[in-house]
Amino acid sequence: MKLETITGIDRMRERSRAAHAQGIKVGFVPTMGYLHEGHLSLMRRARRECGLAVASIFVNPFQFGPEEDFARYPRDLDHDMMLLERCETDLLFHPAASQIYPQGGPGYSTWVGVEGLSDVLCGLSRPGHFRGVATVVTKLLNIVEPDVAYFGQKDAQQAIIIRTLVRDLNMTTRIEVCPTVREADGLAMSSRNKYLSAPERRAATALYRALSAAGAAAAGGERSPREIVGKARSVLEAEPLLKLEYLEIVSLDDLKPIATTQLSGKALLAVAGRIGVTRLIDNITVAVKD
Ligand code: AMP
Repeated sequence: MKLETITGIDRMRERSRAAHAQGIKVGFVPTMGYLHEGHLSLMRRARRECGLAVASIFVNPFQFGPEEDFARYPRDLDHDMMLLERCETDLLFHPAASQIYPQGGPGYSTWVGVEGLSDVLCGLSRPGHFRGVATVVTKLLNIVEPDVAYFGQKDAQQAIIIRTLVRDLNMTTRIEVCPTVREADGLAMSSRNKYLSAPERRAATALYRALSAAGAAAAGGERSPREIVGKARSVLEAEPLLKLEYLEIVSLDDLKPIATTQLSGKALLAVAGRIGVTRLIDNITVAVKD
């Protein structure tokens, strides 16, 4: 089946409303393109669960800081379209920035801020990032009007922020968060992995090795958050190319630091760091033994 590409907002909404009028469920995967298996796992799930499977590709300028990689963010629309077609996506929404932000930025007035969740973890080193994400996702959900939207656990903080904004703004889309897809050596797939040189690519495995060491300690009976984090920290500190930004164990629901001396149930262990010019993030859920 041929992938249909839509650039106009009105046309996109028309297609979605026509599907709804026929009782067809609309599934939506928002992306910034340069697609990999992580994105495609979301797309396949949308395909399985919905009658109309929609992807969007939009590199959102307002979620990049002034010193960040907006201009050089990898883009390959033809290849992305081939991959989308291969996993039987019905429709690609690919708007121009001037459609999404018609007043060109400075004259654009409305921003979505999710308080409390946006200024921790990645929000500390990327001020304004989650305001940009929350705003563009709100706009895309208002345009596509999907029944279900799929996001990756790889961006755990983003997923929690989106769940929260959908709940708080009484939006009707159901949010599904799907597991992180990894390379064979554990590195979480990311469009930014393309920036890594061969030695940097080897160093990048430290993130998941560190998280796994901590996860194994918790699964083996370690309950002290400090000890669990310590296991990950020693793996990260052994990697000279990695400049650690944060390593934190936080509540899965609200990203608050785990303050107790004994962990019970589950928590999110999240890491971010730089290898050369590339910023990488990863996370796992740690579960302590009952
Ligand atoms: P991006 O294009 O980076 O904005 O990502 C679009 C969507 O794909 C987001 O919901 C991401 O969380 C998700 N995603 C990115 N990488 C992965 C991965 N390795 N596994 C699962 N989902 C991912």
